[in-house]
Amino acid sequence: MIQPPNTNASLAQRDLAVLWHPCTQMKDHEQIPMIPIKSGQGVWLEDFDGNRYLDAISSWWVNLFGHANPVINAALKDQLDTLEHVIFAGFSHESGIKLAEKLVEITPAGLGRCFFADNGSAAVEVALKMSFHYWRNCGQSQKTKFITLENSYHGETLGALAVGNVALYKETYAPLLMEVITVPGPDCYFREAGESWAAYSSRRFALLEAVLQQQADSVCAVIVEPLVQCAGGMRMYDAVYLSLLRKACDRYGVHLIADEIAVGFGRTGTLFACEQAGISPDFLCLSKGLTGGYLPLSAVLTTDTIYQAFYADYTKLSAFLHSHSYTGNALACRAALATIGIFQQENIISQNQRLIALLAKLSVRFESHPHIAEVRQTGMILAIELVKDKATREPFAWQERRGLKVYQFALTQGVLLRPLGNVIYFMPPVVITAAELEWLAEVAWQGINHAVKN
Ligand SMILES: *Cc1c(COP(=O)(O)O)cnc(C)c1O
Repeated sequence: MIQPPNTNASLAQRDLAVLWHPCTQMKDHEQIPMIPIKSGQGVWLEDFDGNRYLDAISSWWVNLFGHANPVINAALKDQLDTLEHVIFAGFSHESGIKLAEKLVEITPAGLGRCFFADNGSAAVEVALKMSFHYWRNCGQSQKTKFITLENSYHGETLGALAVGNVALYKETYAPLLMEVITVPGPDCYFREAGESWAAYSSRRFALLEAVLQQQADSVCAVIVEPLVQCAGGMRMYDAVYLSLLRKACDRYGVHLIADEIAVGFGRTGTLFACEQAGISPDFLCLSKGLTGGYLPLSAVLTTDTIYQAFYADYTKLSAFLHSHSYTGNALACRAALATIGIFQQENIISQNQRLIALLAKLSVRFESHPHIAEVRQTGMILAIELVKDKATREPFAWQERRGLKVYQFALTQGVLLRPLGNVIYFMPPVVITAAELEWLAEVAWQGINHAVKN
């Protein structure tokens, strides 16, 4: 029998018969079509009916240099013909070694050791376990707790979920999660009228410091998303918070875990967000953009001091025995090397300044909109906060799903804009052109006007 050609409808039907998609109420797809993507090229995705979509959110914040990037493709094809994967315990490979060398070179000073895992949540688990285990190896086994900030997000596995604070993802599983110390965050959405980001962020730091003062003895580490709390609605704060935090962690003998899984690799305007505070964390978690959006891989960078606390005769039983089958996957490492190569060869961080300035210019129009409470930007991330009432900032009832209306409208115009609740944001691949960015802002503007109508 001759198979009819695939269409959106035929593939969506097969998909919905067998698949269960991430972060999705599957019943929504009774109304909202599932979109099967046939191919990607640069910032564009194409479905099976020939519709094109501009990928304004970098396919969940992973893509940096476009889909089907020729440089990354070529590197991967070469790697594929050489070595796809090998056990990473007892064995190693050139791409893994080169990548670790590069990461040590380009991340903030003092991070001399690289541990690989295979997704962001796993990297967070590794950092939590390493921190706890370090203190234990140093005879401080009373240190068992972690401090996290209000509205933070660190992934979905149970440990990562426990140190996060987004109720929508966390509440259901609360009985399964370890207890953490949650402190008020530096989210500048809540600053007073006329108060600067820096002033608010410093003021809020005192609340964290007070907790350290009382409980540092039982605390392993503080975990933060530097500068932008992405999944928590692209909420932002000033770098001064990180400088204060670094100093306090040193003062109180507590590790600092910087989760740059989303903000790393140029999203905030610098290669890593920590650079803006001039700090080095004790653990740096990387994933998402690490492979340019190609393959799952994560890395935890840490200091030689921490590494040395595990380095001993086997019979001391102080080794870090954590592992994942695909640790250090050679294809993923090679994609990451190609990605970092593009950053360095094309001077991406300084190139991005043009796009960052254009984003700032495009944001102005949204500020006076009667249903927009705030437009905020950090580097390549622009977020627009929809509200019911601009003056009081009363949000739209979540059940109205206004953000979803923006999503649906944008799709009809050929843009993939997937909001976080009522926060519309742009986090495009950096290969987006000025004209594409302008058009994206126009579609968002129309989508917002459509979504706020009764
Ligand atoms: C996405 C994300 C994670 C989790 O990464 P996954 O690869 O989705 O498990 C952790 N932390 C932050 C800040 C993230 O944005």
